[in-house]
Amino acid sequence: MDFRFTEEQEMLRDKVRRFAEEKLAPIAAEVDELDEVSWEVARLLGEQELFRLITPEGYGGVGLKAVPICIAREELSRISIHADLLLAETGLCAYPISTYGTEAQKQRYLPPFAKAEKLGCFALTEPEAGSDIASLQTTAVLDGDSYVINGSKCFASVGPFAQTYVTFAKTDQTQGSRGISAFVVEKGTPGFDGKQMKLMGPHPIAELTFTACRLPKENLLGELGRGMSVALSTLNLFRMSVGAAAVGVAQRAYEEAISYSKRRVAFGQALAEFQATQFKLADMVTDIDAARLLVYRAAWLKDELPEKMTNEASMAKLFATEMAWRVVDQAVQLHGGYGVVKGMPVERLYRVIRQLRVYEGTSEIQKIIIARQILRD
Ligand SMILES: Cc1cc2nc3c(=O)[nH]c(=O)nc-3n(C[C@H](O)[C@H](O)[C@H](O)COP(=O)(O)OP(=O)(O)OC[C@H]3O[C@@H](n4cnc5c(N)ncnc54)[C@H](O)[C@@H]3O)c2cc1C
Repeated sequence: MDFRFTEEQEMLRDKVRRFAEEKLAPIAAEVDELDEVSWEVARLLGEQELFRLITPEGYGGVGLKAVPICIAREELSRISIHADLLLAETGLCAYPISTYGTEAQKQRYLPPFAKAEKLGCFALTEPEAGSDIASLQTTAVLDGDSYVINGSKCFASVGPFAQTYVTFAKTDQTQGSRGISAFVVEKGTPGFDGKQMKLMGPHPIAELTFTACRLPKENLLGELGRGMSVALSTLNLFRMSVGAAAVGVAQRAYEEAISYSKRRVAFGQALAEFQATQFKLADMVTDIDAARLLVYRAAWLKDELPEKMTNEASMAKLFATEMAWRVVDQAVQLHGGYGVVKGMPVERLYRVIRQLRVYEGTSEIQKIIIARQILRD
């Protein structure tokens, strides 16, 4: 067994950490409160060539490998959740195009991702279909050389600011999950529109509508009726990387807690000198380390033995996001009243972290996946 990163992975971690601390930290408090996309952050990510991690070789990237993506997400989210979101959501769009796209689709959509010149969006969830993907209601009907799409999506992160969207629609209403197909949609396609949603935590996100939206037949992504596999395999990779982002957020909360507990004096001594505080910090760091191990085990499996990682990816996502919620909550508690003051880093982390337990499969859905597997085994 080897629990160390390779030399190359360590170099990536150091590079992303340095970049995040030097370039993102000065603007993070501002951009992390945005409900729209910061193109300055996209430009900086492009400059560092970080979008190459979510683009395959031959199209300007270095390949969609899970360990490097998790490393980048952990380091980015520790400093700026906005930067992490731009990378992850474009990755959610790039992966299905890389894996299922035709050569023409890859040539058209992937190279601009590699340079972070364009952003992607993965639009699966609908107002009446979230966890239960098979019941989605958007339809795509073949009419001559085009598919006519009608319906709506919600909670589409980075929408309506992205330029390229991977979305899903029923091409055969009689076939349940086997009647779902995936499509690529370009911003500006007539009949395709987006309206921003407002969440409790900062997050660029939109409702998308398709009104008799005509897509050329060539925009079908993958085989007709295989959209469910496209969606699930994409989530399989990115789910564990949500765990990595959660580890980054928790790590930051823990660092803030350490620093505050050394500064703040109560009853004549620093908070850090109370054993109750020390126990909290010990629990935090243990929790973070456990989650980190689960995340990188799942990532390693994805890269080395991909057929064996579904359960591990779900465990990593479940444990890391629930862990981060506990750690951030403890960090807020350690800050006392200042923990809930607007502008305090832990206050923002508290609003940010809540969402991670919901997207890319709620904690309950991860438990269903894990339980199904253990009972089958
Ligand atoms: C910040 C944010 C960003 C998002 N980004 C995207 C995105 O980019 N693209 C996208 O497509 N979607 C995105 N989503 C949507 C997200 O993936 C869904 O919200 C999530 O899958 C849950 O679906 P739902 O909201 O419809 O809840 P529901 O599916 O209605 O679930 C409601 C509750 O019931 C529970 N539940 C459901 N089924 C079961 C069951 N069988 N057993 C036990 N409990 C169950 C759930 O766990 C949850 O607690 C995002 C959501 C958020 C909050």
